[in-house]
Amino acid sequence: MDLFEYQAKQLFAEYGVPVPQGKVASTAAEARAIADEFAAAGKPRVVVKAQVKTGGRGKAGGVKVAEGPEDAQAKAEQILGMDIKGHTVHRVLVEEASDIAEEYYFSFLLDRANRNFLSICSAEGGVEIEEVAETDPDAVAKIAIDPLTGAPEAVAAEIVKAGRLPEAAVAGATEVVTKLWKAFVGKDATLVEVNPLILTKDGRVVALDGKVTLDENAEFRQDLESLAVPEEGDPLEVAAKEKGLNYVKLDGEVGIIGNGAGLVMSTLDVVAYAGEDFGGVKPANFLDIGGGASAEVMANGLEIILGDPAVKSVFVNVFGGITACDAVANGIVQALELLEERGEDVTKPLVVRLDGNNAELGRQILTDRAHPAVRQVDTMDGAAAQAAELAAK
Ligand code: GDP
Ligand code: MN
Repeated sequence: MDLFEYQAKQLFAEYGVPVPQGKVASTAAEARAIADEFAAAGKPRVVVKAQVKTGGRGKAGGVKVAEGPEDAQAKAEQILGMDIKGHTVHRVLVEEASDIAEEYYFSFLLDRANRNFLSICSAEGGVEIEEVAETDPDAVAKIAIDPLTGAPEAVAAEIVKAGRLPEAAVAGATEVVTKLWKAFVGKDATLVEVNPLILTKDGRVVALDGKVTLDENAEFRQDLESLAVPEEGDPLEVAAKEKGLNYVKLDGEVGIIGNGAGLVMSTLDVVAYAGEDFGGVKPANFLDIGGGASAEVMANGLEIILGDPAVKSVFVNVFGGITACDAVANGIVQALELLEERGEDVTKPLVVRLDGNNAELGRQILTDRAHPAVRQVDTMDGAAAQAAELAAK
């Protein structure tokens, strides 16, 4: 899970890493109000920074210095709504401007290839580190971190020296590095990157940018939920995310449910192909309910798909593996009951194709249930054609 810059900086601050003071705004008026507070505190110069989970914001015009509240509002207006590498800017961070003397680069990351942790440090920061590594590889120090030792002061000092940071920055940077290691371990991060780590004109070392990736496998001991910012996206996608479903809204008419991402992707292709014979009918979504396919997951999936007004028919495509088709069929039957209990009338046609482990048994269960919305087709192509035809009606 990637954090926004403002979240990364909050995390840094929690571990005592110096960061500029700042607050997040989602409108230009809010940005102005924050800048007003800074102006009242004698800091009229602020930086307005696009909050998107991608790098190169500066180059794209998403980082702008403002000379006072009015200017901050104008800059926020320019940045909010901007598209940066496919990410729409919904929020800006407004922070006190820093007087930069020099810009450095520092990161801790999980080095999968070497089954270890790695630190990267360079006196050439502020630009993309990959670029520096290419043009001037000697300027980029890479030092493996023994996970048992971590980065206490002696190790941190060694890293900072290897990165050739100037004497004026060594003490400050060493302290920042020890704290960043504590944050890296404490939060189960796989990446903590500060680019640039700056030396201010008054001699302080400050994290001016922050990129943090947290390990979702550590969810059991970390509070990742409070860091998940609700995405302003398609309402169906938001609802699906809340239910933990792997759902992507598309713009066609045939709702798709399948088990396994590969099967669902090929189902999209087969439906799009079959749809060509029926006036260009297309898949309405991607939904992978995964291996288990319990009644509840199936019900949640059906609820999202049936709640999409664009959906005219649904294709449930299941290949029984470890979870056999009879279990899936029972899941479908129970899902239909659950939906009716929730007051959802299932009237849109459901084309179900069961194949693989215990397919016969699964089909029999659906035949016995004889739900009026459900029809079965034994082959994937046949089912896709029928779902497309029903959607075209
Ligand atoms: P990125 O382009 O997405 O990596 O965004 P950064 O947060 O790294 O900002 C890009 C660049 O903007 C930095 O390298 C700085 O040169 C500049 N910048 C950011 N904040 C300030 C600031 O407070 N003062 C000044 N003078 N420059 C800043
Ligand atoms: Mn940066």
